Amino acid sequence: MTARRLDGKALARERELLLTERVSKCIARGAAPRLAVAVSTNDPSARVYLAAKQRVAERVGIDVLVRPMSSPSTEEIVRLIEEWTHDPEITGIILESPLPSRIDTAAVRRALPAAKDVDGAGEASLGRLIAGDPGFPPATAEAALSLAETVRPLAGRRVVVLGRSLVVGRPLAILATARDATVTVCHSKTHDLARQTREAEVLFVAVGRPGLVTGEMVHVGATVIDIGINVADGRIVGDVDADAVASIAGALSPVPGGVGPLTTTVLLEHVVQATERATV
Ligand code: NAP
Repeated sequence: MTARRLDGKALARERELLLTERVSKCIARGAAPRLAVAVSTNDPSARVYLAAKQRVAERVGIDVLVRPMSSPSTEEIVRLIEEWTHDPEITGIILESPLPSRIDTAAVRRALPAAKDVDGAGEASLGRLIAGDPGFPPATAEAALSLAETVRPLAGRRVVVLGRSLVVGRPLAILATARDATVTVCHSKTHDLARQTREAEVLFVAVGRPGLVTGEMVHVGATVIDIGINVADGRIVGDVDADAVASIAGALSPVPGGVGPLTTTVLLEHVVQATERATV
């Protein structure tokens, strides 16, 4: 079997067309979507992720306000979030990750207002996600789910989520459960990982270890969504040994070109949705 390639880039481009129309409608009624981003200037990867968002935002017509911060304290970030929360011109707020390690991320999470928290990173958004209330889920988790659902709906499927971070694994497990999947979450303390992953009809992988998932860990015909972004030998690679898994899985998302580009589009969709919710 050669797995179907789940082209996140193509799907992102399709969704961008719809997004461009929605942005035009917002602007026509005087409510321009505007994303505010705080970014640490000391982290090169944060600047790369931001540049990718700016490129797509420009294509669809969303204004991006960037606040570079060289060495911010938790208090400065919290004050900035409060300033943007009360600014009617700002419809979405994100903090480009990674944040410097000394930052009290719990305090930052508490400060993010659900109505503008377009990457679902705040305490209020995560609470809503668990409660099943409308809010913004983390964009990566939503993008991964969307890509899997291009194969078939998740309802009734056996899903394994590899990774349990607050930004990807855990929200993804909650979203898949809400779609009526039967979900197992695995992590670094899981015994006999391969036995768990081989049970999956849909396997989501968000670990940050190149090549962790090998062919023997995948059920024949399974859908495998690789969320990992790693640099190995100067190349961007995922967490899945793509060559080996492609001959076993039914569908596989590539890295790059899978979840990554769709994540950017989902995030910008949230910015437009936040604008529509605030102004319609
Ligand atoms: P993270 O916070 O470091 O979490 C990694 C998770 O993997 C943890 O739950 C950890 O378990 C688990 N883990 C680590 N080693 C393992 C092993 N050998 N076996 C099984 N589980 C293991 O990472 P993250 O922020 O979730 O990111 C994960 C990956 O996704 C990274 O490559 C990141 O770059 C990528 N990512 C991509 C996007 C995108 O847009 N495509 C967005 C965000 C992140 P414990 O909980 O037990 O420590």
